[in-house]
Amino acid sequence: MKQLHRITRTDESHWVGDGFPVRTLFSYNTLDAVVSPFLMLDYAGPAEFPPADKPRGVGLHPHRGFETVTILYQGEVEHHDTAGNGGLIGPGDVQWMTAAKGLLHEEMHSAAFTRQGGTFEAIQLWVNLPARYKMIAPHYQSITDDLIPVVKLDEKGSVVRVIAGNYQDAKGPANTYTPINLWDMRLPDGQTVELEIPEDYTTLLFALKGSIKINNSATMNDVELAFFERLGKTITLTALKDATLLVMNGEPIDEPIAGYGPFVMNTEQEIRQAIEDFNSGRFQ
Ligand code: MN
Repeated sequence: MKQLHRITRTDESHWVGDGFPVRTLFSYNTLDAVVSPFLMLDYAGPAEFPPADKPRGVGLHPHRGFETVTILYQGEVEHHDTAGNGGLIGPGDVQWMTAAKGLLHEEMHSAAFTRQGGTFEAIQLWVNLPARYKMIAPHYQSITDDLIPVVKLDEKGSVVRVIAGNYQDAKGPANTYTPINLWDMRLPDGQTVELEIPEDYTTLLFALKGSIKINNSATMNDVELAFFERLGKTITLTALKDATLLVMNGEPIDEPIAGYGPFVMNTEQEIRQAIEDFNSGRFQ
């Protein structure tokens, strides 16, 4: 059994641009190797937006050295980047953007969502790249809802949507540079699931909604994050209230991290280079 290490939460919220009120559940700034290969998790919303004329969001900004994974639960985002990719991300969709050597992009509420207003809820997870892939060409995986396999665990509505890696025999559509399993789970009140996760993987569990008993012991609530020990292979979860969960697990990347805002590299020299490249307009 993988033992629970601890449960954390954050109630502090800040705006990313004028479109995304987020709570940062973890960041490499403070945790580094503890969360590797993951770097950061921002939970946006749930927040209500009234109908408007002008789309909210965050304008052109750079990333280098890692991947941004956007998971939409409610609302709609329109994305454009300087690598020539763009599109709409709606409920159930995932955008897996490999920024790698760098690009500029903007993330805005879509025209339709802006006009209609409504509830917005999304996650942005940053996934690190090993040193040898940090400077490859940027690219983009548009993973629409229909491409994501849904594993039914029972007749009560317990499901695992496999975004990346495997769950039992189901394989997620995302291509990753290191072994990662990313599961979007629904567990109705009273249902139990036993997850199998490889030994030595970093394992994080985020509860967007609900209340969960972990390994028949501690209880976690909504907007809380559970960290597990690397030893052991199974975790038992029982929902005490209808739950929406994101399970992140992966092989740690055993390399140094140097980061500055939207740049995450291995050395300070590489960070200085990223800033210089950005300031000279080389992120195009
Ligand atoms: Mn971004």
